[in-house]
Amino acid sequence: MAGIAPIRGLKFEQNVTRVVQADKCLGCSACVAVCPVGCLEFVERKPELVEKCASCGICLIVCPQYEYAFPALEESVFGRQRRPQEEFGIYRRMAIAKANDENILHVCQDGGVVTALLTYALETGRIDGAAVSGISEDKLCYPVPRLVLTPQEVLECAGTRYIFSPNLFAFQKGFTENKKNIAFVGTPCQIHALRKIEMNLLRYFNQLQLAVGLLCTESFTYEGLMKQLIQGKLGLDLHEVKKINIKGKILVTTKSGEEKAIPLKEAKQYTHPRCNLCTDFSAELADISVGGLGLDGWTFTILRTRRGEELFEEARKANVIKTKSIEKGEKALDLLKRLSLKKRKRH
Ligand SMILES: Cc1cc2nc3c(=O)[nH]c(=O)nc-3n(C[C@H](O)[C@H](O)[C@H](O)COP(=O)(O)OP(=O)(O)OC[C@H]3O[C@@H](n4cnc5c(N)ncnc54)[C@H](O)[C@@H]3O)c2cc1C
Repeated sequence: MAGIAPIRGLKFEQNVTRVVQADKCLGCSACVAVCPVGCLEFVERKPELVEKCASCGICLIVCPQYEYAFPALEESVFGRQRRPQEEFGIYRRMAIAKANDENILHVCQDGGVVTALLTYALETGRIDGAAVSGISEDKLCYPVPRLVLTPQEVLECAGTRYIFSPNLFAFQKGFTENKKNIAFVGTPCQIHALRKIEMNLLRYFNQLQLAVGLLCTESFTYEGLMKQLIQGKLGLDLHEVKKINIKGKILVTTKSGEEKAIPLKEAKQYTHPRCNLCTDFSAELADISVGGLGLDGWTFTILRTRRGEELFEEARKANVIKTKSIEKGEKALDLLKRLSLKKRKRH
Protein backbone atom coordinates (compact mmCIF):
# COMPACT_ATOMS: atom_id res chain seq x y z
CA MET A 1 0.00 0.00 0.00
CA ALA A 2 1.31 3.50 -0.88
CA GLY A 3 2.24 5.90 1.89
CA ILE A 4 4.22 5.86 5.08
CA ALA A 5 3.03 5.15 8.60
CA PRO A 6 1.93 7.92 10.95
CA ILE A 7 4.13 9.04 13.79
CA ARG A 8 2.89 9.00 17.35
CA GLY A 9 3.64 12.22 19.26
CA LEU A 10 5.14 14.55 16.68
CA LYS A 11 8.53 15.93 17.55
CA PHE A 12 10.55 18.71 16.00
CA GLU A 13 11.55 17.92 12.40
CA GLN A 14 8.92 15.24 12.17
CA ASN A 15 7.23 17.00 9.34
CA VAL A 16 6.64 16.35 5.68
CA THR A 17 10.37 16.25 4.92
CA ARG A 18 10.11 12.72 6.26
CA VAL A 19 7.88 11.82 3.30
CA VAL A 20 10.43 13.35 0.92
CA GLN A 21 13.29 11.48 2.55
CA ALA A 22 11.38 8.21 2.19
CA ASP A 23 11.03 9.08 -1.53
CA LYS A 24 7.23 8.96 -1.26
CA CYS A 25 6.42 12.60 -2.09
CA LEU A 26 3.95 13.00 -4.98
CA GLY A 27 4.87 16.66 -5.35
CA CYS A 28 1.26 17.85 -5.01
CA SER A 29 2.27 21.00 -3.03
CA ALA A 30 -0.49 20.66 -0.39
CA CYS A 31 1.95 20.73 2.54
CA VAL A 32 3.48 24.02 1.38
CA ALA A 33 0.07 25.54 0.64
CA VAL A 34 -1.27 24.85 4.16
CA CYS A 35 1.84 25.40 6.30
CA PRO A 36 0.70 28.08 8.79
CA VAL A 37 4.19 29.34 9.64
CA GLY A 38 5.59 29.45 6.11
CA CYS A 39 8.57 27.23 6.88
CA LEU A 40 8.20 25.22 3.67
CA GLU A 41 8.95 26.25 0.12
CA PHE A 42 8.01 24.39 -3.08
CA VAL A 43 11.30 23.77 -4.87
CA GLU A 44 11.54 21.53 -7.94
CA ARG A 45 8.18 20.01 -7.11
CA LYS A 46 9.10 19.10 -3.55
CA PRO A 47 8.68 20.77 -0.15
CA GLU A 48 11.89 22.15 1.27
CA LEU A 49 12.30 23.26 4.88
CA VAL A 50 13.56 26.86 4.77
CA GLU A 51 12.66 28.13 8.26
CA LYS A 52 12.34 26.66 11.74
CA CYS A 53 9.43 24.20 11.80
CA ALA A 54 6.74 24.65 14.47
CA SER A 55 6.03 20.89 14.46
CA CYS A 56 2.29 21.51 14.22
CA GLY A 57 1.89 18.45 11.98
CA ILE A 58 -0.54 20.17 9.59
CA CYS A 59 1.66 19.38 6.57
CA LEU A 60 1.45 15.69 7.42
CA ILE A 61 -2.30 15.75 8.00
CA VAL A 62 -2.91 16.90 4.40
CA CYS A 63 -0.22 14.81 2.70
CA PRO A 64 -1.81 12.14 0.43
CA GLN A 65 1.20 9.91 1.01
CA TYR A 66 1.17 10.07 4.79
CA GLU A 67 -1.26 7.88 6.67
CA TYR A 68 -3.18 6.31 3.77
CA ALA A 69 -6.75 7.60 4.04
CA PHE A 70 -8.40 6.90 0.67
CA PRO A 71 -11.26 4.80 2.12
CA ALA A 72 -11.98 7.44 4.79
CA LEU A 73 -11.96 10.12 2.10
CA GLU A 74 -14.41 8.10 0.00
CA GLU A 75 -16.66 7.90 3.05
CA SER A 76 -16.35 11.65 3.51
CA VAL A 77 -17.08 12.52 -0.16
CA PHE A 78 -19.55 9.77 -1.17
CA GLY A 79 -20.83 8.41 2.14
CA ARG A 80 -19.45 4.95 1.33
CA GLN A 81 -16.37 3.11 0.09
CA ARG A 82 -15.96 1.83 -3.47
CA ARG A 83 -16.99 -1.70 -4.36
CA PRO A 84 -14.39 -3.95 -6.05
CA GLN A 85 -16.24 -3.77 -9.38
CA GLU A 86 -16.04 0.06 -9.38
CA GLU A 87 -12.82 0.00 -11.39
CA PHE A 88 -12.40 3.76 -11.71
CA GLY A 89 -14.00 4.83 -8.46
CA ILE A 90 -17.51 5.80 -7.37
CA TYR A 91 -19.70 7.72 -9.82
CA ARG A 92 -23.36 8.46 -10.55
CA ARG A 93 -23.16 8.52 -14.35
CA MET A 94 -20.95 9.34 -17.31
CA ALA A 95 -21.42 11.69 -20.25
CA ILE A 96 -19.67 12.72 -23.43
CA ALA A 97 -20.02 16.47 -23.60
CA LYS A 98 -18.96 19.66 -25.34
CA ALA A 99 -19.35 23.40 -24.76
CA ASN A 100 -21.73 25.29 -27.04
CA ASP A 101 -19.78 28.56 -26.92
CA GLU A 102 -17.49 28.92 -29.96
CA ASN A 103 -15.07 31.14 -28.01
CA ILE A 104 -14.50 28.27 -25.59
CA LEU A 105 -14.21 25.64 -28.33
CA HIS A 106 -11.54 27.77 -29.97
CA VAL A 107 -9.14 27.59 -26.99
CA CYS A 108 -10.10 24.53 -24.93
CA GLN A 109 -8.33 21.19 -24.79
CA ASP A 110 -11.07 18.69 -25.64
CA GLY A 111 -14.77 19.63 -25.47
CA GLY A 112 -14.30 22.68 -23.22
CA VAL A 113 -16.53 21.23 -20.50
CA VAL A 114 -14.30 22.51 -17.69
CA THR A 115 -14.28 26.07 -18.99
CA ALA A 116 -18.00 26.01 -19.77
CA LEU A 117 -18.96 24.70 -16.31
CA LEU A 118 -16.73 27.16 -14.46
CA THR A 119 -18.10 30.03 -16.54
CA TYR A 120 -21.69 28.95 -15.88
CA ALA A 121 -20.99 28.51 -12.15
CA LEU A 122 -19.50 32.03 -11.96
CA GLU A 123 -22.29 33.64 -13.99
CA THR A 124 -25.01 32.06 -11.89
CA GLY A 125 -23.32 32.95 -8.60
CA ARG A 126 -22.64 29.34 -7.57
CA ILE A 127 -18.95 30.17 -7.16
CA ASP A 128 -17.07 33.40 -6.73
CA GLY A 129 -13.74 32.10 -7.92
CA ALA A 130 -11.88 29.11 -9.29
CA ALA A 131 -8.38 27.81 -8.70
CA VAL A 132 -7.02 26.80 -12.10
CA SER A 133 -3.78 26.85 -14.08
CA GLY A 134 -2.80 29.89 -16.08
CA ILE A 135 0.27 30.57 -18.20
CA SER A 136 3.37 32.33 -16.94
CA GLU A 137 4.07 35.79 -18.30
CA ASP A 138 7.84 35.27 -17.94
CA LYS A 139 8.40 31.72 -19.14
CA LEU A 140 6.88 30.47 -22.41
CA CYS A 141 4.24 27.68 -22.16
CA TYR A 142 4.89 27.35 -18.43
CA PRO A 143 1.86 26.76 -16.16
CA VAL A 144 1.26 28.80 -13.04
CA PRO A 145 -1.55 28.53 -10.47
CA ARG A 146 -4.19 31.22 -10.91
CA LEU A 147 -7.28 32.26 -8.98
CA VAL A 148 -9.80 33.37 -11.60
CA LEU A 149 -12.80 35.53 -10.74
CA THR A 150 -14.43 36.33 -14.10
CA PRO A 151 -15.52 34.33 -17.20
CA GLN A 152 -12.85 36.14 -19.23
CA GLU A 153 -10.15 34.96 -16.81
CA VAL A 154 -11.51 31.39 -16.94
CA LEU A 155 -11.28 31.53 -20.74
CA GLU A 156 -7.67 32.77 -20.61
CA CYS A 157 -6.74 29.61 -18.67
CA ALA A 158 -8.47 27.02 -20.90
CA GLY A 159 -6.43 24.21 -22.48
CA THR A 160 -3.94 21.73 -21.03
CA ARG A 161 -0.35 22.29 -20.03
CA TYR A 162 1.22 18.84 -19.58
CA ILE A 163 3.51 20.18 -16.88
CA PHE A 164 2.61 20.14 -13.20
CA SER A 165 0.87 23.29 -11.99
CA PRO A 166 0.52 23.70 -8.18
CA ASN A 167 -3.09 24.92 -8.30
CA LEU A 168 -3.48 24.41 -4.53
CA PHE A 169 -1.65 27.73 -4.11
CA ALA A 170 -4.47 29.41 -6.05
CA PHE A 171 -7.01 27.70 -3.80
CA GLN A 172 -5.10 28.93 -0.76
CA LYS A 173 -5.20 32.46 -2.22
CA GLY A 174 -8.98 32.22 -2.54
CA PHE A 175 -9.20 31.01 1.04
CA THR A 176 -7.07 33.83 2.45
CA GLU A 177 -8.98 36.38 0.35
CA ASN A 178 -12.17 35.12 2.00
CA LYS A 179 -13.84 33.88 -1.15
CA LYS A 180 -16.91 32.02 0.02
CA ASN A 181 -17.38 29.49 -2.78
CA ILE A 182 -14.37 28.26 -4.68
CA ALA A 183 -14.07 25.68 -7.44
CA PHE A 184 -10.84 23.77 -7.88
CA VAL A 185 -9.39 22.21 -11.04
CA GLY A 186 -6.44 19.85 -10.77
CA THR A 187 -4.76 16.53 -11.34
CA PRO A 188 -5.64 13.41 -9.28
CA CYS A 189 -2.78 13.93 -6.79
CA GLN A 190 -4.07 17.43 -6.07
CA ILE A 191 -7.68 16.30 -5.72
CA HIS A 192 -6.55 13.65 -3.22
CA ALA A 193 -4.72 16.31 -1.19
CA LEU A 194 -7.62 18.75 -1.52
CA ARG A 195 -10.02 16.19 -0.04
CA LYS A 196 -7.62 15.65 2.86
CA ILE A 197 -7.53 19.40 3.39
CA GLU A 198 -11.34 19.50 3.21
CA MET A 199 -11.83 16.59 5.59
CA ASN A 200 -9.29 17.68 8.17
CA LEU A 201 -9.08 21.47 7.97
CA LEU A 202 -11.98 22.95 5.99
CA ARG A 203 -14.98 21.16 7.36
CA TYR A 204 -16.05 24.23 9.34
CA PHE A 205 -15.46 26.65 6.47
CA ASN A 206 -17.14 24.97 3.53
CA GLN A 207 -15.53 27.10 0.81
CA LEU A 208 -14.90 24.21 -1.54
CA GLN A 209 -17.87 24.18 -3.89
CA LEU A 210 -16.62 21.96 -6.68
CA ALA A 211 -13.59 19.74 -7.29
CA VAL A 212 -12.93 19.08 -10.98
CA GLY A 213 -10.35 16.34 -11.51
CA LEU A 214 -8.37 15.98 -14.73
CA LEU A 215 -7.69 12.42 -15.85
CA CYS A 216 -3.93 12.09 -15.80
CA THR A 217 -1.42 9.48 -16.96
CA GLU A 218 1.51 11.73 -16.10
CA SER A 219 2.97 15.18 -16.41
CA PHE A 220 6.36 15.92 -17.95
CA THR A 221 9.29 18.07 -16.93
CA TYR A 222 9.40 21.47 -18.63
CA GLU A 223 12.99 20.88 -19.65
CA GLY A 224 12.13 17.52 -21.25
CA LEU A 225 8.83 18.32 -23.00
CA MET A 226 9.29 21.92 -24.03
CA LYS A 227 13.07 22.26 -24.41
CA GLN A 228 14.32 18.83 -25.48
CA LEU A 229 11.37 17.66 -27.55
CA ILE A 230 9.42 20.62 -28.87
CA GLN A 231 12.26 23.10 -29.18
CA GLY A 232 15.09 20.62 -29.77
CA LYS A 233 13.62 17.73 -31.73
CA LEU A 234 10.84 19.53 -33.61
CA GLY A 235 12.89 22.72 -33.96
CA LEU A 236 9.93 24.89 -32.95
CA ASP A 237 10.22 28.29 -31.34
CA LEU A 238 8.02 28.11 -28.20
CA HIS A 239 6.38 31.40 -29.28
CA GLU A 240 4.94 29.40 -32.18
CA VAL A 241 3.19 26.75 -30.06
CA LYS A 242 -0.59 27.13 -29.99
CA LYS A 243 -1.65 23.82 -28.49
CA ILE A 244 -0.23 20.52 -27.28
CA ASN A 245 -2.46 17.46 -27.10
CA ILE A 246 -1.77 13.80 -26.44
CA LYS A 247 -3.74 11.30 -28.50
CA GLY A 248 -1.51 8.22 -28.65
CA LYS A 249 1.29 10.62 -29.62
CA ILE A 250 2.22 14.16 -28.69
CA LEU A 251 0.58 16.51 -31.15
CA VAL A 252 1.82 20.07 -31.39
CA THR A 253 -0.25 22.62 -33.30
CA THR A 254 1.50 25.83 -34.29
CA LYS A 255 -0.05 29.28 -34.55
CA SER A 256 0.21 29.00 -38.34
CA GLY A 257 -1.96 25.86 -38.22
CA GLU A 258 0.74 23.25 -38.83
CA GLU A 259 0.57 20.02 -36.81
CA LYS A 260 3.70 18.12 -35.75
CA ALA A 261 3.91 14.83 -33.85
CA ILE A 262 6.32 13.15 -31.47
CA PRO A 263 5.94 9.45 -30.57
CA LEU A 264 4.75 9.18 -26.97
CA LYS A 265 7.43 6.66 -26.13
CA GLU A 266 10.11 9.28 -26.84
CA ALA A 267 8.52 11.53 -24.22
CA LYS A 268 8.30 8.88 -21.51
CA GLN A 269 11.89 9.52 -20.40
CA TYR A 270 10.74 13.04 -19.44
CA THR A 271 7.82 11.91 -17.25
CA HIS A 272 8.10 13.80 -13.99
CA PRO A 273 9.65 11.36 -11.47
CA ARG A 274 6.98 12.23 -8.85
CA CYS A 275 4.27 10.92 -11.23
CA ASN A 276 5.65 7.38 -11.09
CA LEU A 277 4.27 7.07 -7.55
CA CYS A 278 0.71 7.99 -8.47
CA THR A 279 -2.02 5.32 -8.22
CA ASP A 280 -5.06 7.33 -9.38
CA PHE A 281 -5.69 7.91 -13.10
CA SER A 282 -9.19 9.35 -13.03
CA ALA A 283 -9.26 11.64 -9.96
CA GLU A 284 -11.52 9.27 -8.09
CA LEU A 285 -12.30 11.75 -5.32
CA ALA A 286 -13.46 14.60 -7.57
CA ASP A 287 -17.05 15.85 -7.96
CA ILE A 288 -16.53 15.67 -11.72
CA SER A 289 -13.64 13.97 -13.54
CA VAL A 290 -12.81 14.90 -17.14
CA GLY A 291 -10.52 13.63 -19.87
CA GLY A 292 -10.09 13.36 -23.60
CA LEU A 293 -9.56 9.58 -23.70
CA GLY A 294 -8.91 9.67 -27.43
CA LEU A 295 -12.20 11.45 -28.28
CA ASP A 296 -11.97 14.20 -30.85
CA GLY A 297 -13.32 17.53 -29.62
CA TRP A 298 -15.44 16.08 -26.80
CA THR A 299 -14.80 15.73 -23.06
CA PHE A 300 -15.39 12.37 -21.41
CA THR A 301 -17.10 13.37 -18.17
CA ILE A 302 -17.56 11.28 -15.03
CA LEU A 303 -20.20 12.74 -12.72
CA ARG A 304 -19.31 11.38 -9.32
CA THR A 305 -21.23 13.38 -6.70
CA ARG A 306 -24.75 14.81 -6.57
CA ARG A 307 -23.25 18.30 -6.52
CA GLY A 308 -21.28 17.62 -9.71
CA GLU A 309 -24.22 16.01 -11.47
CA GLU A 310 -26.59 18.86 -10.58
CA LEU A 311 -24.25 21.54 -11.92
CA PHE A 312 -23.69 19.57 -15.13
CA GLU A 313 -27.42 18.96 -15.64
CA GLU A 314 -28.33 22.61 -15.02
CA ALA A 315 -25.64 23.73 -17.47
CA ARG A 316 -26.97 21.29 -20.05
CA LYS A 317 -30.53 22.57 -19.58
CA ALA A 318 -29.27 26.15 -19.90
CA ASN A 319 -27.73 25.18 -23.27
CA VAL A 320 -24.20 25.81 -22.03
CA ILE A 321 -23.10 22.27 -22.90
CA LYS A 322 -24.44 19.53 -25.14
CA THR A 323 -24.01 15.78 -24.84
CA LYS A 324 -23.98 12.79 -27.14
CA SER A 325 -24.79 9.17 -26.43
CA ILE A 326 -22.36 7.46 -24.06
CA GLU A 327 -22.56 4.39 -26.34
CA LYS A 328 -20.33 6.35 -28.74
CA GLY A 329 -17.60 6.24 -26.08
CA GLU A 330 -17.01 2.49 -25.88
CA LYS A 331 -13.31 2.75 -26.77
CA ALA A 332 -12.84 5.65 -24.36
CA LEU A 333 -14.45 3.68 -21.54
CA ASP A 334 -12.17 0.74 -22.27
CA LEU A 335 -9.15 3.03 -22.10
CA LEU A 336 -10.40 4.54 -18.85
CA LYS A 337 -10.67 1.09 -17.27
CA ARG A 338 -7.28 -0.02 -18.57
CA LEU A 339 -5.39 3.08 -17.46
CA SER A 340 -7.11 3.12 -14.05
CA LEU A 341 -6.16 -0.49 -13.44
CA LYS A 342 -2.58 0.08 -14.57
CA LYS A 343 -2.11 2.87 -12.03
CA ARG A 344 -3.96 1.06 -9.23
CA LYS A 345 -1.55 -1.85 -9.59
CA ARG A 346 1.17 0.43 -8.22
CA HIS A 347 -0.42 0.19 -4.76
C1 LIG B 1 -0.89 16.96 -16.74
C2 LIG B 1 -2.15 16.49 -17.41
C3 LIG B 1 -2.23 15.19 -17.93
C4 LIG B 1 -3.42 14.73 -18.52
N1 LIG B 1 -3.47 13.44 -18.98
C5 LIG B 1 -4.61 12.97 -19.53
C6 LIG B 1 -4.66 11.61 -19.98
O1 LIG B 1 -3.70 10.85 -19.86
N2 LIG B 1 -5.84 11.18 -20.51
C7 LIG B 1 -6.93 11.99 -20.64
O2 LIG B 1 -7.96 11.55 -21.14
N3 LIG B 1 -6.91 13.29 -20.20
C8 LIG B 1 -5.77 13.79 -19.65
N4 LIG B 1 -5.73 15.09 -19.19
C9 LIG B 1 -6.97 15.92 -19.22
C10 LIG B 1 -7.21 16.62 -20.54
O3 LIG B 1 -6.01 17.13 -21.07
C11 LIG B 1 -8.21 17.81 -20.39
O4 LIG B 1 -7.80 18.65 -19.34
C12 LIG B 1 -9.63 17.35 -20.09
O5 LIG B 1 -10.08 16.46 -21.09
C13 LIG B 1 -10.60 18.54 -20.01
O6 LIG B 1 -10.75 19.10 -21.29
P1 LIG B 1 -11.68 20.38 -21.50
O7 LIG B 1 -11.61 20.77 -22.94
O8 LIG B 1 -13.02 20.06 -20.91
O9 LIG B 1 -10.93 21.41 -20.57
P2 LIG B 1 -10.71 23.00 -20.78
O10 LIG B 1 -12.03 23.66 -20.89
O11 LIG B 1 -9.70 23.24 -21.83
O12 LIG B 1 -10.11 23.37 -19.33
C14 LIG B 1 -8.93 22.78 -18.86
C15 LIG B 1 -8.68 23.23 -17.43
O13 LIG B 1 -7.50 22.58 -16.96
C16 LIG B 1 -6.65 23.53 -16.31
N5 LIG B 1 -5.25 23.08 -16.49
C17 LIG B 1 -4.49 23.18 -17.60
N6 LIG B 1 -3.28 22.65 -17.38
C18 LIG B 1 -3.27 22.23 -16.10
C19 LIG B 1 -2.30 21.60 -15.28
N7 LIG B 1 -1.08 21.31 -15.73
N8 LIG B 1 -2.63 21.29 -14.02
C20 LIG B 1 -3.85 21.60 -13.53
N9 LIG B 1 -4.82 22.22 -14.24
C21 LIG B 1 -4.53 22.51 -15.53
C22 LIG B 1 -6.93 24.83 -17.02
O14 LIG B 1 -6.61 25.94 -16.22
C23 LIG B 1 -8.43 24.72 -17.32
O15 LIG B 1 -9.20 25.24 -16.26
C24 LIG B 1 -4.55 15.59 -18.61
C25 LIG B 1 -4.47 16.90 -18.09
C26 LIG B 1 -3.29 17.34 -17.50
C27 LIG B 1 -3.23 18.75 -16.92
